[in-house]
Amino acid sequence: MKVAVVGGGVIGLSSALCVKERCPQAELTVVAGEFTPNTTGDGAAGIWQPPLWNVTQQELPWLQWTFDYLSRLYKTEFSHQIGLFCQSGYNVFTEEVPDPPWKDIVLGFRHLTEEELKRFPGYSYGWFETTLMLECKSYLPWLTQRLKEKGIKFEQRMIASLSEVCRDYDVVINCSGLSARTLVNDQEVQPGRGQIVRVHAPWVKHFILTHDMGTATYNTPYIIPGINTVALGGLNQIGDWDTGWREEDEKNIWHGAVQLIPSLKGARVLGKWTGLRPVRERIRIERETVNDTPVIHNYGHGGYGVTYHWGCALQAASLAAKAMDEVAAKTSSSRVVKSRY
Ligand SMILES: Cc1cc2nc3c(=O)[nH]c(=O)nc-3n(C[C@H](O)[C@H](O)[C@H](O)COP(=O)(O)OP(=O)(O)OC[C@H]3O[C@@H](n4cnc5c(N)ncnc54)[C@H](O)[C@@H]3O)c2cc1C
Repeated sequence: MKVAVVGGGVIGLSSALCVKERCPQAELTVVAGEFTPNTTGDGAAGIWQPPLWNVTQQELPWLQWTFDYLSRLYKTEFSHQIGLFCQSGYNVFTEEVPDPPWKDIVLGFRHLTEEELKRFPGYSYGWFETTLMLECKSYLPWLTQRLKEKGIKFEQRMIASLSEVCRDYDVVINCSGLSARTLVNDQEVQPGRGQIVRVHAPWVKHFILTHDMGTATYNTPYIIPGINTVALGGLNQIGDWDTGWREEDEKNIWHGAVQLIPSLKGARVLGKWTGLRPVRERIRIERETVNDTPVIHNYGHGGYGVTYHWGCALQAASLAAKAMDEVAAKTSSSRVVKSRY
């Protein structure tokens, strides 16, 4: 059974691994225009934090599976080498809000006290929790190595349409992120533009995510420490395709960060990155047929691809396994029919 995974980001690579683990006999190829370090996840902060409330009953297990899988990896001796670590921090709000549906997945979720809130002028409500961090610039090379060890092939090329790969493969898994907009003409997918300034500030040990109910999540200041750098951000410009760096946006990021932690003023800049989140109202994981070939879609993870990746990969692999069974059954029955004549 020949399977193609279109897309080499965190969603494509994890889907490829889950399919291979579930169907070891399948011959897999990952076809992508870009691989690590040039995918969206490579620049992302990598915090495990789902949408605040917009999570369906179907999506909740995908979050749990990802958190459980990362928690298992966290207990290995090599977790730091794959960019995985634990971190506590704050979500602060301008008004009182309901608890998130994932409050029992993260560790030690609680509301902030009045005393704690005094540290966040302008914010009147908040949560504290311990979560996991996964830096894709370390995680994706590790996933790639695991896939290579399992005999999975890699092909670097852009495809113009899915039917191009459907010709040569029995099953196709579409993990093309934002490009699904053109590749499968899904106008529901759109960019959520972000800029991240990475600074040297090893004294910052907690994440701070601010929220204003009047704007999109991540469109207000955030500070997320990584292993070697601290990510400063706070832009989620929906519908904006500009992948260039904008000074005006950088100014706003600095302003927001320094208001939260004044000692960040003048912190040495180690990197700047612009990325486009593949935003969609709901993640698309479903099967359709293109030129008689089953295609499993797995895209549209917005600002939460790292948070969802493993659960979505397991879900996509389960659909792919079913599709492979059906293709195998069809092939063997057509052989029986042919052999009768
Ligand atoms: C500023 C910012 C901060 C973020 N922070 C976080 C965070 O802290 N936590 C979190 O969970 N998420 C975060 N995200 C979101 C996360 O990075 C994305 O959801 C995730 O990386 C999407 O992964 P993907 O594999 O679907 O897409 P991508 O990484 O974009 O990969 C798409 C792949 O498809 C390939 N492709 C596309 N079209 C074609 C084609 N026609 N032919 C061949 N190949 C093709 C590309 O080359 C690429 O390999 C952040 C995103 C941004 C922009």
